[in-house]
Amino acid sequence: MNRVLKVASHRPFVSLLQTRMVSSLLISNPKYAFLKELGLQEENAGVFNGEWKASGAVVDSVSPATNEVIARVKTGTVEDYESAIQAARAGYEQWSDMTAPHRGEIVRQIGDKLRSQLQNLGKLVSLEMGKINPEGVGEVQEYVDICDYAVGLSRMFSGKVIPSERAGHVLLEQWNPLGVVGVISAFNFPCAVYGWNNALALVTGNSLVWKPAPSTPLTAIAITKLIEEVLQENKLPGGICSLVTGEADVGQALTKDPRVNLVSFTGSTEVGRIVGQQVQGRFGKILLELGGNNALLVNDDADLDMVVPATVFAAVGTAGQRCTSTRRLIVHEKVHDQVVERMKKAYAQLEARIGDPLDSNTLIGPLHNQQAVLKYKATVAEAIVQGGKVECGGQVLERSGNFVLPTIVSGLKHDAEVVHRETFAPILYVIKMKDLDEGIKINNEVKQGLSSSLFTQNISNIFKWMGPKGSDCGIVNVNIPTSGAEIGGAFGGEKETGGGRESGSDAWKQYCRRSTCTINYSKDLPLAQGIKFE
Ligand code: NAD
Repeated sequence: MNRVLKVASHRPFVSLLQTRMVSSLLISNPKYAFLKELGLQEENAGVFNGEWKASGAVVDSVSPATNEVIARVKTGTVEDYESAIQAARAGYEQWSDMTAPHRGEIVRQIGDKLRSQLQNLGKLVSLEMGKINPEGVGEVQEYVDICDYAVGLSRMFSGKVIPSERAGHVLLEQWNPLGVVGVISAFNFPCAVYGWNNALALVTGNSLVWKPAPSTPLTAIAITKLIEEVLQENKLPGGICSLVTGEADVGQALTKDPRVNLVSFTGSTEVGRIVGQQVQGRFGKILLELGGNNALLVNDDADLDMVVPATVFAAVGTAGQRCTSTRRLIVHEKVHDQVVERMKKAYAQLEARIGDPLDSNTLIGPLHNQQAVLKYKATVAEAIVQGGKVECGGQVLERSGNFVLPTIVSGLKHDAEVVHRETFAPILYVIKMKDLDEGIKINNEVKQGLSSSLFTQNISNIFKWMGPKGSDCGIVNVNIPTSGAEIGGAFGGEKETGGGRESGSDAWKQYCRRSTCTINYSKDLPLAQGIKFE
């Protein structure tokens, strides 16, 4: 640090140094031309409030595959947050006056803009987050899909007309916007999570302030630039979709701000607990999408030809960095050994498919950063100490980037400390169950309650699993993996996963204030419950 400061006083050295630093950015490499096509530059302002202007530190956005710098971002500060919330509040005044179908039309245009950059944006998600390219593109596609969904919703979301107990009265529900929705998002879904919130919040009449994860600012900037184009083309204020990149202090400012009517938080249970309590403390609304510890149950009547590929996909997809990744494989004791053997064979074929997330041969990309690699290593070591046997994997790969081997650990007790913890890495614990009842108990005994899946061919088991004594998770699947949810259903989980629901079904209601309206169109004034007050 001192050396850089000393050199900085000699101008010729500075320009030499800067030239070298700039040319080493991935954005300058023609292989990554898509970055410039998305409007990104070597250094980008990380705040949008109708204008692009930031006053925080300049940070590197790094590719997890090589730890090389993609481009730089001047991040936001708490003062920048203030300008963004003011712009979002001002934007709300105009936006909420527009009809819902008109807002839907703007969201349709956002969806089209994303479609036109689907491949480029998908590549950026892969480069910056580290997930393989089909997953990166899939994430952008989810945003496109939720835009389509929201366009339809803009002509459909409606309240009830309820029979009134009083003559000459109408009792009805009206769904009004809340105001400003603050979105704080996690690194592992840098595009789709904002998309789910953005499309639904917009059609229901809200403006937004987005605080993305500190390590995925370029994706947030590229998305906001596309939205900006649509807003500009429609002569609408850019502040309707404001953005402030930055660290936890910016997230804190948003969390504590009573001008933010709903905080939609996606991230760890640890941070979600703080954010939830702070928002509740000011009686704001909160939507929490937190950690999971998802189990896939294999009953003795399961079709094992389906179990193996489903488990591999859910346990190693996104290198185990999905909130819905399978972390516990709970297998009937009659088929346990057979399943472990087949899983080991499948995992043995994976090593050759670990690599650059933008390479079409790759099935498993890197972990997001070096801290994640250290956590992976420490967790494997703890699993062994707690009685686990590493069936395969368990090692960090000796190459640049943050690559680890997908790992299977058997022999641990179902309630071992390490099994009850969410480790964001491709580590799968295989646990024995005597029968389905015991499997359900094990499924439900963890603190998290996001996703779960049962493989069985027996219809009674299916309904037991879905029913009141079955899985206690928000997502309860049968004969499909724990990950890979569709946008049409409500997405979210129970217990320490936070209880929020996003995406489809009636999740839109969370972005609205419900008004119960009673209208008297008679000349009398009867009171409810027949009360006389004369
Ligand atoms: P994280 O909790 O570290 O960070 C999430 C966001 O919170 C980031 O934008 C971060 O800057 C911000 N933040 C940190 N401290 C804050 C504070 N005190 N106040 C306000 N904001 C603060 O999570 P992460 O590591 O980015 O993401 C991984 C976690 O997210 C995992 O636990 C995963 O299961 C969870 N996740 C859940 C879902 C879901 O839908 N349930 C989806 C994706 C990720």
